[in-house]
Amino acid sequence: MKKSLIFFVAAASVLLSIGFLLSQQDFSKVQIKARKVTDNIYMLQGSGGNIGVSVGPDGILMIDDQYAPLAPKIEAALKDLSSGSLKYVLNTHFHGDHTGGNEVFGKSSTIVAHANVRKRLSTEQMRRGQPAPPKPREAWPVITFDTSISVHFNGEEIRAMHYPQAHTDGDAVIYFVNSNVVHMGDTFFAGIFPYIDIESGGSVQGLIAAVGHVIENVPADVKLIPGHGELSTLDDLKAYHDMLQQTSALVEQKIADGKTLETIKAEGLPGQWQVWANGFINEEGWLEALYNSLQKM
Ligand SMILES: [Zn+2]
Repeated sequence: MKKSLIFFVAAASVLLSIGFLLSQQDFSKVQIKARKVTDNIYMLQGSGGNIGVSVGPDGILMIDDQYAPLAPKIEAALKDLSSGSLKYVLNTHFHGDHTGGNEVFGKSSTIVAHANVRKRLSTEQMRRGQPAPPKPREAWPVITFDTSISVHFNGEEIRAMHYPQAHTDGDAVIYFVNSNVVHMGDTFFAGIFPYIDIESGGSVQGLIAAVGHVIENVPADVKLIPGHGELSTLDDLKAYHDMLQQTSALVEQKIADGKTLETIKAEGLPGQWQVWANGFINEEGWLEALYNSLQKM
């Protein structure tokens, strides 16, 4: 009796975890929605990081590609925008919700990214304490850069600039120089606390520096594609920068006062910042990220 009960519990938990995995990977209901940013630039939203697309006489250039199972839907969305073929994929960083489609799109287009993106996609990575195997060769960027690179495409300069130790150690912000559009990758979570991958070289200080640099180098009417969230304005980015600066200054002061993470979590953040906790990262998670990043200084 006891044995069969144990077996039942074990079998049920296996079924539950399979169900969990399937629900995690069920992309059948995901729809790819295209939003027009300018005459020839679009933002695609499905599941995972926002995709940026340039269409025109030279063909298609895409920034990030979400998850591999979504590739046929992304391909169909691109076909609706242009009859041209996909020539380049630029990756803003290595995370799977931005590079999962590389293994499909890399077979017929050229992937461009910071050198650390290739390094991380081609080797085993520790993700939240668990080992993750290298991605297939087709998924690896074939053109890499250290500080910046420009693709001259569809009549304009599309410039990828590296920002060190921000969301990861391989972040690129992509400037459509003539069109006045910027894809920020995960250096910008619009209206929500960001995830910072400290395990992969990210830091809150680097993130603040990156966002500050973008603010100082774009015109007031720039259109900003965030890694996650809706198409944004410069004012949205400034509000995000203020939140990053003020919440990190607060936690820095508490650390200087000798407070532990537990105390800092118990004290919480002032009410004005609660509205940022509606995304992937709640208030506790954000305080923990700030604490861990600032402790490393
Ligand atoms: Zn990311």
